[in-house]
Amino acid sequence: MTKFIFVTGGVVSSLGKGITAASLAAVLEARGLKVTMTKMDPYINVDPGTMSPFQHGEVFVTEDGAETDLDLGYYERFLRHSKMSKVNNFTSGRVYQTVLAKERRGDYLGGTVQVIPHITDEIKSRVKASGKGFDIAIIEIGGTVGDIESLPFMEAVRQLQVELGHDNAMLMHLTLLPYIKSASELKTKPTQHSVKELLSIGIQPDILVCRTEHDVDADTKRKIALFTNVPERAVVVCKDARSIYEIPRTFYEQNLDDLVCERFGFDVPEADLSDWDKVIEGLMSAEGEIVVAMVGKYVELPDAYKSVNEALLHAGIHNRTKVKIHYIDAEKLETQANLMDELKSCDAVLVPGGFGERGTVGKMMAIKYARENNKPYLGICLGMQLAVIEFARNVLGLSANSTEFDRKASEPIIGLITEWFDEKGELQIRSDDSDLGGTMRLGAQEAELVLGSKLAKIYGTRNITERHRHRYEMNNRYIESLEAAGMKISGYSARQHLVEAVEIDDHPWFVAVQYHPEFTSSPRGGHPLFNSFIKAAIDLK
Ligand code: GLN
Repeated sequence: MTKFIFVTGGVVSSLGKGITAASLAAVLEARGLKVTMTKMDPYINVDPGTMSPFQHGEVFVTEDGAETDLDLGYYERFLRHSKMSKVNNFTSGRVYQTVLAKERRGDYLGGTVQVIPHITDEIKSRVKASGKGFDIAIIEIGGTVGDIESLPFMEAVRQLQVELGHDNAMLMHLTLLPYIKSASELKTKPTQHSVKELLSIGIQPDILVCRTEHDVDADTKRKIALFTNVPERAVVVCKDARSIYEIPRTFYEQNLDDLVCERFGFDVPEADLSDWDKVIEGLMSAEGEIVVAMVGKYVELPDAYKSVNEALLHAGIHNRTKVKIHYIDAEKLETQANLMDELKSCDAVLVPGGFGERGTVGKMMAIKYARENNKPYLGICLGMQLAVIEFARNVLGLSANSTEFDRKASEPIIGLITEWFDEKGELQIRSDDSDLGGTMRLGAQEAELVLGSKLAKIYGTRNITERHRHRYEMNNRYIESLEAAGMKISGYSARQHLVEAVEIDDHPWFVAVQYHPEFTSSPRGGHPLFNSFIKAAIDLK
């Protein structure tokens, strides 16, 4: 039977609930347990895929093509053996949509449809389904205790705890211990209040994780335990760490994994955290620094590029070099000369994924600079499409564009592919309707790399699987002229022969890919493409 750990947050948001939950998952996995994780988001949007990165940060894409909350990215980075899927993230909107569809179908036979039991039942069944086949499922509830939106989720968790029983379910609550400078004291009152809030809806936490900037003495811990009915050994301190990847060890040192295993009756070996120790060692022994210019549209909110940021950090660990990201606003780059100077002072250039025309001129200026000045360039998704357009315009002299920016482009080198021949030679037609989110090429797909390409060398294999999230593709009509001028196709999709990657022959490191390599980078091994990109930047510095 699957055991469940529910994770809630109190006092304030942004305490790093996802990272905390994932760190506990990592320690439990290091004891040989099969662990999965799920995020329940209380907002009404049905699909995180259509939410603005400005407000919500990156959209993380799973292997099976679900567009999810960025916390799932942390789950995959911390877990080695479990991949996330569409069952691992759902919103209030999705839950209501399911219940409303049932109501319309007449499934409730005209009965009154209510938050309790109908909404809570739907939540419970999704939670149970997400844990199937695992020893432990860690379920994170978005938002903060006391939010109106999260109440149905809290109630579902309360009911699940009763149904599953003491030996099969636990609740971990994350709080903040603020430091009051004038009193030189850590304050426990907000923690007490947030536990009271939980108690008022019938939930008693089993574990408290206290986020703090300072050490917590034994007296304070005793006080927290006493006022929250949580055993002292279950009051765990999570002080600001040098790196998030240190947190699994922090938990291990406070025996949090023992507490969980005892409660659930798991007789498993000690946690082997050597992988995590190596990550920290790599991070701390870094010598020198590489500055990567990240030219994008959402630069005010680095969370919008979370997985790319992490993948660069991982590549730094792998190469024992500190990687600093210098964000450059693509739109401002078009007009502000000082930003061009900043770009020039960086060691490498990266243009990440994006949607819409705004900022594309600036991004192409950055790409042109990298191409002409032998700076390592990594283009991701839109970053590939723009690399192709820039090359077609400035090297081939075509007035090339993407039909995303100009529906009537005279040279549509990037466009919606509505027809292709499948492996049997049959014509397939993809509909180009305007239902946002419906027409994307999404999730993991196989690609074949071209023999002798730089990319095949970088991966050390010709068959790769990478994740996609885009509507537009390169137009194969232009392959011949691009290749003749030095921009080579380095990979095609296995099924439809779509261009998956390009590279420039006489450039030390210019690679652009239609897929999103950042989603599969792990702190332990990095990702071959990012590792190679950073290595090139070091070698050319
Ligand atoms: N806007 C482009 C497309 O839809 C690129 C998408 C992306 O970069 N993720 O194809």
